[in-house]
Amino acid sequence: MKRVAIVTGGTRGIGACISKALQKEGYLVAANYCGNDAAALAFQEETGIPVFKWDVGDTEACAEGLRKVEAELGAVCTLVNNAGITRDSMLHKMDYEQWSTVMRVNLDAMFNMTRPLINGMRDRSFGRIINISSINGQKGQMGQTNYSAAKAGVIGFTKALAQETARKGITVNCICPGYIDTDMVSAVPKNVLEGIVSSIPVGRLGTAEEVADLVCFLARRESAFITGSVIAVNGGQYIANG
Ligand code: NDP
Repeated sequence: MKRVAIVTGGTRGIGACISKALQKEGYLVAANYCGNDAAALAFQEETGIPVFKWDVGDTEACAEGLRKVEAELGAVCTLVNNAGITRDSMLHKMDYEQWSTVMRVNLDAMFNMTRPLINGMRDRSFGRIINISSINGQKGQMGQTNYSAAKAGVIGFTKALAQETARKGITVNCICPGYIDTDMVSAVPKNVLEGIVSSIPVGRLGTAEEVADLVCFLARRESAFITGSVIAVNGGQYIANG
């Protein structure tokens, strides 16, 4: 029987690459998305990976969406919490909407997506949960108090849940990408981007494939002893303690 994986924000950018990489590993993959129907349908057509539309910031929508995914594909053993957004502004200009939208989609989603799946994983004594945080959740980033706080929260969530589930065969890990060549990064002004690239010791942006490869590695049954880890994929741009 094929293993089932779900990737939130799995139709574009890093998430699309993760969906395809897991499919290549033999998983039955469900790719979630929220608004861009055209991109999602093109992705489904290209890959044959079924797409499921709901907002990961909406608790009820996640429970209902996951029921649908499990009814159609089977019990989910691998959850990749990848969907994420930015609404950048200095705090003195930020409104509550910018704050709360980012918290909802990047951080509340951890609860919304994981809570409906965790008991099934516990019952089956197996699960892989891989959360996508960010370099900016590790080091903080000017203009991103909302995003940095949410992504730091993802790290805390990962570490706590890893301890809760370790005896149940469920690993929970967190990947902190640095600057990866995607739509999110191409939205950064050219002169700012040049400055960013010059601060990356490897001398280039990362690729979505480099993140997806790590997801596949962590998802393997053989990666059972790696849990609660926070793994940077950032070209040496930020080397955290410990
Ligand atoms: P993209 O903007 O390229 O893609 C985002 C994906 O998330 C899309 O599929 C989008 O769906 C989906 N999405 C957005 N909001 C929601 C929502 N509310 N509910 C469900 N799905 C949603 O992002 P990236 O690939 O660049 O980023 C992926 C992850 O990696 C994010 O968590 C991001 O914070 C993190 N990251 C990215 C970095 C980078 O350099 N790109 C660096 C560090 C971290 P739709 O197509 O419908 O809009």
